[in-house]
Amino acid sequence: MAMLLPPINLRRRLLCPRCGMLTDERKPACVHCGYHISQRQRRELIRERKRKKKNAALVFVGIFLALIFAFSRIAP
Ligand SMILES: [Zn+2]
Repeated sequence: MAMLLPPINLRRRLLCPRCGMLTDERKPACVHCGYHISQRQRRELIRERKRKKKNAALVFVGIFLALIFAFSRIAP
Protein backbone atom coordinates (compact mmCIF):
# COMPACT_ATOMS: atom_id res chain seq x y z
CA MET A 1 0.00 0.00 0.00
CA ALA A 2 2.78 2.45 0.90
CA MET A 3 4.20 1.98 -2.58
CA LEU A 4 1.17 3.80 -4.03
CA LEU A 5 2.06 7.03 -2.26
CA PRO A 6 4.50 9.39 -4.00
CA PRO A 7 7.89 9.86 -2.38
CA ILE A 8 8.32 12.97 -0.22
CA ASN A 9 10.80 14.55 -2.65
CA LEU A 10 8.10 14.66 -5.36
CA ARG A 11 5.95 17.07 -3.36
CA ARG A 12 7.73 20.18 -4.59
CA ARG A 13 7.87 19.09 -8.21
CA LEU A 14 5.92 20.30 -11.18
CA LEU A 15 5.31 18.67 -14.52
CA CYS A 16 6.97 20.80 -17.18
CA PRO A 17 4.39 21.86 -19.81
CA ARG A 18 6.98 21.61 -22.58
CA CYS A 19 8.98 18.41 -21.96
CA GLY A 20 6.64 16.68 -19.49
CA MET A 21 9.44 15.98 -17.02
CA LEU A 22 9.31 16.74 -13.33
CA THR A 23 10.98 20.00 -12.39
CA ASP A 24 11.51 21.91 -9.16
CA GLU A 25 8.62 24.30 -8.51
CA ARG A 26 10.93 26.80 -6.78
CA LYS A 27 13.10 27.20 -9.87
CA PRO A 28 12.01 29.75 -12.51
CA ALA A 29 12.83 27.41 -15.42
CA CYS A 30 12.56 23.70 -16.12
CA VAL A 31 15.71 21.89 -14.98
CA HIS A 32 15.53 19.57 -18.01
CA CYS A 33 14.72 21.74 -21.04
CA GLY A 34 15.12 25.26 -19.64
CA TYR A 35 11.51 26.21 -20.35
CA HIS A 36 10.59 29.28 -18.33
CA ILE A 37 7.47 28.70 -16.28
CA SER A 38 5.71 31.98 -15.45
CA GLN A 39 4.33 32.71 -11.98
CA ARG A 40 0.78 32.41 -13.29
CA GLN A 41 1.49 29.12 -15.02
CA ARG A 42 3.25 27.86 -11.90
CA ARG A 43 0.23 28.71 -9.74
CA GLU A 44 -2.07 26.91 -12.18
CA LEU A 45 0.16 23.83 -12.20
CA ILE A 46 0.28 23.79 -8.40
CA ARG A 47 -3.51 24.13 -8.24
CA GLU A 48 -3.87 21.32 -10.77
CA ARG A 49 -1.52 19.11 -8.78
CA LYS A 50 -3.51 19.70 -5.59
CA ARG A 51 -6.72 18.78 -7.37
CA LYS A 52 -5.13 15.59 -8.70
CA LYS A 53 -3.88 14.76 -5.23
CA LYS A 54 -7.41 15.17 -3.87
CA ASN A 55 -8.76 12.87 -6.58
CA ALA A 56 -6.06 10.31 -5.86
CA ALA A 57 -6.99 10.43 -2.17
CA LEU A 58 -10.65 9.80 -3.01
CA VAL A 59 -9.72 6.81 -5.18
CA PHE A 60 -7.54 5.50 -2.37
CA VAL A 61 -10.40 5.81 0.15
CA GLY A 62 -12.72 4.09 -2.34
CA ILE A 63 -10.35 1.13 -2.72
CA PHE A 64 -9.95 0.97 1.04
CA LEU A 65 -13.73 0.88 1.61
CA ALA A 66 -14.12 -1.74 -1.13
CA LEU A 67 -11.50 -3.90 0.60
CA ILE A 68 -13.24 -3.55 3.97
CA PHE A 69 -16.52 -4.45 2.31
CA ALA A 70 -14.97 -7.49 0.60
CA PHE A 71 -13.34 -8.71 3.84
CA SER A 72 -16.50 -8.20 5.86
CA ARG A 73 -18.28 -10.55 3.46
CA ILE A 74 -15.54 -13.17 3.59
CA ALA A 75 -15.22 -13.15 7.39
CA PRO A 76 -17.64 -15.40 9.29
ZN1 LIG B 1 10.99 20.97 -19.42
